[in-house]
Amino acid sequence: MYSNYQNFLQKEIADIKEAGLYKNERIIVSPQGAEIKVNTGQTVLNFCANNYLGLANNPELIKAAKEALDTHGYGMASVRFICGTGDLHKQLEAKIAEFFGTEDTILYAACFDANGGVFEPLLNEQDAIISDALNHASIIDGVRLCKAQRFRYANADMNDLEEQLKAAQKYRFRLVVTDGVFSMDGNVAPLPQIVELANKYDAMVMVDESHSAGVVGRTGRGVTEQYNLRGKVEILTGTFGKAFGGAIGGFTTGKKEIIEMLRQRSRPYLFSNSIPPLVAAAGLKMVEMMSTTTTLQDKLHHNTEYFMEKMKKVGFDIKPTQSAICAVMLYDAKVSQDFAARLQEEGIYVTGFYYPVVPKGQARIRVQLSAAHEIEHLDKAVAAFTKVGKELGVLK
Ligand SMILES: *Cc1c(COP(=O)(O)O)cnc(C)c1O
Repeated sequence: MYSNYQNFLQKEIADIKEAGLYKNERIIVSPQGAEIKVNTGQTVLNFCANNYLGLANNPELIKAAKEALDTHGYGMASVRFICGTGDLHKQLEAKIAEFFGTEDTILYAACFDANGGVFEPLLNEQDAIISDALNHASIIDGVRLCKAQRFRYANADMNDLEEQLKAAQKYRFRLVVTDGVFSMDGNVAPLPQIVELANKYDAMVMVDESHSAGVVGRTGRGVTEQYNLRGKVEILTGTFGKAFGGAIGGFTTGKKEIIEMLRQRSRPYLFSNSIPPLVAAAGLKMVEMMSTTTTLQDKLHHNTEYFMEKMKKVGFDIKPTQSAICAVMLYDAKVSQDFAARLQEEGIYVTGFYYPVVPKGQARIRVQLSAAHEIEHLDKAVAAFTKVGKELGVLK
């Protein structure tokens, strides 16, 4: 029975390899951090994790998680509404709402689930969703699962957003949805203009803060902090898998009736397990840390500026960033792959991106800065970039 399908898959996989799009996984044998050990025995500097605040191996978070293992056990073995709600889950939901200045929060196993389960229960075919063209895959999938009419606007293009809002006027309710930070360029969504247009055309706004929470805004409270719009957006989603500790888990936070309805009808919430208590406990510690000091944000912002400045000075073409994502533009797909491979030999872990992940002729290396990086790490990375840049003749 399987052999025809096996042949089919083998051919598809060969095609993926042929096109140079096959994803090989690199195996890390140490905790996630600035310096990681890989299974070849090499120790490398990591510049491609979402570990923006360096919390993935933070001693205080580890301690909180260990304590929760003793007090609350390992797993919940239930969805929230049957018997999967613990005191730590409720505390974390309240703390996340406090952190973002929202009314209530609902936890999910991942932000992929938060986005997958947010549209379908709230909107139907009488309504319209207006989505940025570069929104995350989980938003695209969530929109697909919903019966609402779909409108798309070019990335951060406010003229196009206005056109789409006009076209959507005949529907009952409208929701504009955007990533807070777009992961390929590191640009922040123009939220003041989005909110203004939403007010003008009677729409609600949703922001996915996955790459911006912990990173953007003076105290890391994301795009709504950056633009002084705390509490002015109906729905925020986010992850505990990036700056917020890097383990697992996601959330939707916002207006209380919206969260209440999601608890009743959101399918990834109703039909999937609760996050483990130890993750909730570490999440609580994370919010506490972020509410008492901005040391990590300050260090991250400083590291980002430092790295960008040095890279520009040696002649790299760097996209302006408003986040901890730094796109080193190489334009040519093959150069981006050769560059990343050479950097790995030099002990620097980064990823080269090219079409179809970014537009044709826009190949690049994406560098992600972290508060875990020390200046010596940044200097080493710049030196390696410079060496390889000279070899490949890409410096200006
Ligand atoms: C990473 C990411 C997600 C998915 O988060 P997980 O918690 O890992 O599922 C969703 N949206 C955006 C914008 C992201 O960058």
